[in-house]
Amino acid sequence: MTISGAWRRTAAGAGLLAADGTVTASIFAEMSALAVRTGAINLGQGFPDEDGPVEVLEAARRAIADGVNQYPPGRGTLELRQAISRHQHRFYGLSVDPDTEVLVTAGATEALAATILALLEPGDEVVTFEPFYDAYGGLIALGGGVHRTVPLRSPDFQPDLDLLRAAVTDRTRLIVVNDPHNPTGTVFSRETRELIVNLAHRHDALIVTDEVYEHLTFGVPHIPISTLPGAAERTVTISSGGKTFSLTGWKVGWLTAPAALVTAILAVKQFLTYVNGAPFQPAIAVGLDLPDAFYTATAQDLRAKRDVLARGLTTAGFSISQPRGSYFIVADATNLGYTDGVEFCRVLPELAGVVTVPVTAFCSPRYRADYAPLVRFAYCKKVEVLERAATQLSALSARAS
Ligand code: PMP
Ligand code: GLN
Repeated sequence: MTISGAWRRTAAGAGLLAADGTVTASIFAEMSALAVRTGAINLGQGFPDEDGPVEVLEAARRAIADGVNQYPPGRGTLELRQAISRHQHRFYGLSVDPDTEVLVTAGATEALAATILALLEPGDEVVTFEPFYDAYGGLIALGGGVHRTVPLRSPDFQPDLDLLRAAVTDRTRLIVVNDPHNPTGTVFSRETRELIVNLAHRHDALIVTDEVYEHLTFGVPHIPISTLPGAAERTVTISSGGKTFSLTGWKVGWLTAPAALVTAILAVKQFLTYVNGAPFQPAIAVGLDLPDAFYTATAQDLRAKRDVLARGLTTAGFSISQPRGSYFIVADATNLGYTDGVEFCRVLPELAGVVTVPVTAFCSPRYRADYAPLVRFAYCKKVEVLERAATQLSALSARAS
């Protein structure tokens, strides 16, 4: 049977199926499978190789033992919504009402999906930076939206503000901002954040922020766009426990937004997952209430890992970005004789026993050529694993010279 795209919001119409009707594996799944197959060190998919805080793990075990195993309320358990509200206040001075302005979701991914599907009319434009987290492209297509992007250029991957001004128009419904940014590790400047808010006002657009790396910045504070004057009233702020607590498999995420937006998003969310993760919700609440020292130590620990990998990549002959946040470093393989990142990722397990992902996996066809030689390495791994990867990668410079 051929599944046609007569209605854009079919999987085929949104371009999510290959011509032969098969589903294309996400780049992360493909590269993780390659790592398993070849026994290479997986610096591709961004997941930590150590568990999160014991208090949080223990709270989940306790919840299961205590019988917290049935459907939680549609908006999420009250204790988690209250903990999210406390967290927004403690770190950013934001006041959100846990009853009406917070929604718990199945990871940041469901928060993004429900938001985009709830707030977009077919034909509306959505502006994101490029490269962009792969789910954005798929979700905008499923929502029947038109995806406009503003390229971020190496070495600092900050946007050209004139291009940003040109991209946002009266046709723009949503501006989706991922800060700290995957895959580049960029943290946007105050000027960029302010311009986004100004443009949203001028063109009556809504802002959706993806802040899953909010606690993983190095030497720079994380500033949510919703803290800027005039922003909270038109911003959906999205985050997740996956990255902060090194628990990516739990898929507990959330969003905060004005009550009317939360209600619209809930209307969609109820038919996506309805609810998820009953025993994990109180455990993430415990995590959100951990003292500041936990958050500081997590960022410091990750910064040290970034530095180990950055040194290793530089010694191996790559030119690299200087990430100020996130799990990722972008590296250019041109000096090593590779100008096609996809090809490089396919041969790297054999050359050096390491798996990485091409940055073009985060790009629209229009810009793919511009990012062709770039690959993304994840440093959310044990120091000894990063050191081993660095040693193995150093063989590349010997080959290239
Ligand atoms: N947004 C970004 C930028 C990400 O890197 C990821 C991957 N962790 C997600 C969203 C998805 O988060 P979650 O696993 O909580 O759905
Ligand atoms: N966010 C993770 C990354 O960028 C991957 C999540 C996924 O596999 N969908 O590596």
